[in-house]
Amino acid sequence: MSSRIGICSWKYSSILRTIRPKYKLDVRVLYRYNSTSPSTSSTQAPGKQPLSRILADIIKTTGPISVAAYMRQCLTNAELGYYINKDPFGVSGDFITSPEISQMFGELVGIWIITQWMALDRPKSCRLIELGPGRGTLMADMITAFQSFPYFAPTINEISMVDASPTLRQKQHETLCGNAQLEKVGFGYQSKTKAGIPIVWYETLKDIPNDDLSHFIIAHEFFDALPIHQFEKTPNGWRELLVDYRVPEGKTQLSLPNQITNLESKATFHLTTPNFATPSSKIIPESSSRYSQLPVNSKIEISPESWDIALDIAKRVSGAEEGTSRGSALIIDYGPADTIPVDTLRAIKKHHIVSPFDEPGTADLSADVDFTALKNVAIEHGQVDVHGGVEQGDWLHELGIGARATVLANRQKTKEGKDRIAKAYNRLVERSGGAMGKVYKVMAFVPKGMSVPVGFGGSVLE
Ligand code: SAH
Repeated sequence: MSSRIGICSWKYSSILRTIRPKYKLDVRVLYRYNSTSPSTSSTQAPGKQPLSRILADIIKTTGPISVAAYMRQCLTNAELGYYINKDPFGVSGDFITSPEISQMFGELVGIWIITQWMALDRPKSCRLIELGPGRGTLMADMITAFQSFPYFAPTINEISMVDASPTLRQKQHETLCGNAQLEKVGFGYQSKTKAGIPIVWYETLKDIPNDDLSHFIIAHEFFDALPIHQFEKTPNGWRELLVDYRVPEGKTQLSLPNQITNLESKATFHLTTPNFATPSSKIIPESSSRYSQLPVNSKIEISPESWDIALDIAKRVSGAEEGTSRGSALIIDYGPADTIPVDTLRAIKKHHIVSPFDEPGTADLSADVDFTALKNVAIEHGQVDVHGGVEQGDWLHELGIGARATVLANRQKTKEGKDRIAKAYNRLVERSGGAMGKVYKVMAFVPKGMSVPVGFGGSVLE
């Protein structure tokens, strides 16, 4: 990150003023896959059974598993999950995220936190929580932004990081703490950032006390990694699509006694629709009229795990429970602002979309985030207001990315340097086709009755 540039001369007040309308969006990213044979001799951890073998054995023993169980194993299996042993980011990795594209992204998220802190009458003690912090780049750039607001940084009692990956935890520690020691403590690990702020790593959000500190929470590309269930409405009711491992029926052949075929070698992981209801298919799609009223043949994706986390976030920022304080949360991810995701499970490897059923555990799996479902959970909680989702391009513009990009570009001495800033700016805000500025949405949870936040039509309160 040596190309990152100081924020000191950046005048936030000049860039936080435009008011923009809200948006109605119907963006669906649909991907379909031809299931191909998985390698059972995966290149994963040497000397260990590949995850494909383990999953195949489980399915053969207990029957097909839910897409949610499959996703959970692929991403966060304690030994072989995709995120557990790997740093997947960057040009040489599998994918790139907004904070990795430019420092501007994290700086603007940091500015948003400060505007909320100001609007909440500058609470004296805060907890800054990041869910799924990747390499720690977003947090590092937020901290850079905080340096321009010296009265805010000392109010942060703790930076709380939630990550399932020991490898990425190590990387985050390196990015944020440099040489400071990483110490094992009862609930996780602790250290100090280079700026001297206490930082603690937790495995789940639930491990973090909902205490009297003001909680400011950021989740960037976190919810899309949470497991989803897929359902289809048949004339006989909802059915859950399950992941099976065997020879798909269309591929079986008559095998005569002298033509012994190794059926196992033809088996693949693939989706199957059982002709019976499962406990999940009886309960989850019936939990809301949003799903239950859909016509026959509808297909939907639902992530109850995301609901749980959204509810936890709502409780923390509401300050409604005794002994807690008001805060704010920002959720940034891709997905439709107001429709239910359909068929969006995908895998990404080396910057290409591949089948989610090839070599489980070796590619990033994700699904569109159902922003309306997150919003509904928070609204039902009753003590928070929800703003967005708005398109990332618009949110960044309202936060002043244009002005920030101009400052950074003017500081560059070479044409290459200026072009690099322009390219990063365009990549973050571009709205054509499936570009990041459009498919990524930004949503905020704030305490009920609080002013409209910056980026969602509000302005900075002084
Ligand atoms: N926010 C970062 C990283 C996004 S990748 C960025 O935008 O660059 C997803 C991150 O979430 C990784 O750090 C991964 O280890 C973490 N993660 C994925 N599933 C998780 C889970 N169930 N619990 C906790 N962390 C998880």
